[in-house]
Amino acid sequence: MEVILKNLTKKFPSRDRKNRNEVIAVNDFDFTIPDGKLIGLLGPSGCGKSTVLNLISGLLKPTGGRIYFGEDDVTELPPEHRGIGLVFQNYALYPHLTVRQNILFPLENLKGKDKLSREEMLKKADEAAKLVQIDGLMDRKPRELSGGQQQRVAIARALVKRPRVLLLDEPLSNLDARLRLQTREEIRRIQRETKITTIFVTHDQEEAMSISDMIVVMKDGVVQQIGKPQDVYDSPANLFVAKFLGTPPINLFTGQIRNNTLYIGNDAVLQVKDMPDRDVRVGIRPEGFILSDSGVLTCGLNGVEVMGRDISVVSLNDASANPTVRSIVGTENSLSDDTRHKPEGSKVRFDLIPRKVFLFDSLTEERISCEIQQLAAK
Ligand code: ADP
Ligand code: MG
Repeated sequence: MEVILKNLTKKFPSRDRKNRNEVIAVNDFDFTIPDGKLIGLLGPSGCGKSTVLNLISGLLKPTGGRIYFGEDDVTELPPEHRGIGLVFQNYALYPHLTVRQNILFPLENLKGKDKLSREEMLKKADEAAKLVQIDGLMDRKPRELSGGQQQRVAIARALVKRPRVLLLDEPLSNLDARLRLQTREEIRRIQRETKITTIFVTHDQEEAMSISDMIVVMKDGVVQQIGKPQDVYDSPANLFVAKFLGTPPINLFTGQIRNNTLYIGNDAVLQVKDMPDRDVRVGIRPEGFILSDSGVLTCGLNGVEVMGRDISVVSLNDASANPTVRSIVGTENSLSDDTRHKPEGSKVRFDLIPRKVFLFDSLTEERISCEIQQLAAK
């Protein structure tokens, strides 16, 4: 089911007595969610993700704009008639009911022509339980399950009516790291198997990047960028998106364009095409640095950190907007003993990979699109 959001806006009255301005939780949100895809709605806490989800579910009424499920305008339709499945962070299972009874619950409430026989209901509950692999736990109560198992029950309950749209609001936030990884793979598998259009809300960029067909990055109720996860990472529309995606985060510098050359401090680092002289902000992904004795950017060594496979060189640069510059220079066996044993404070030099370097307008923070290349002399 395609979901179309047209100029969707939600304003809340102010909760702050001193500041009477209303809160615009969702501002002119325009987006078509393609049929059968998994969309990651991503942004920091308070940016309006849950509000978007609750507008789609019908739990909230929009201040302006329309919502369509395919051809149907569902804007005025109450939640129970929209054909949605909802899963929340806190599972919200009925504690006194067994797993089977929890999953059956939405079916037992069907009325009129939708009403099912007991056998049909049990069959559907069994199917949903199998899909999320909890069919062996049907007679337990929620308190007899782990967090991950409880969340599976909640997902089964959301799926049992075969919803047109599945809405998940931070469903993994209460799980520990390992379960979070495992459950997100499960959600991906279930979504692929059922092909139900799914919107997955999270503040965790890695989570959204790893399972979504497309991500929508939000800030202050406004869509910043929509695209395939890798495309958004490789080509952020603005500084906010560039900073929000990626671990470790992107490194930021103040820079200048002079004679079609990009300078960081006094170092001429890259060539830019057809750009007037100006100040810019420079973002460099951690994997955009290559250690080299003749490198274009000189920094002061602050330390070498080994994290699992990756080696980070942590260094200092006067033009850096962050306290340190963090570069991932490869895997453990690729770092020379020489660099590894350099004393702190000694110079390290890097070449830069042009496609890992982005320029932003210092004021608007919008990306400046331009061709970036290695220096001619290199
Ligand atoms: P997120 O899910 O991204 O953390 P929310 O959608 O919950 O963000 O909230 C977006 C903004 O709307 C926040 O500033 C929040 O304080 C405000 N907000 C959410 N619900 C209400 C409400 N019922 N009344 C007033 N303000 C609200
Ligand atoms: Mg929320």
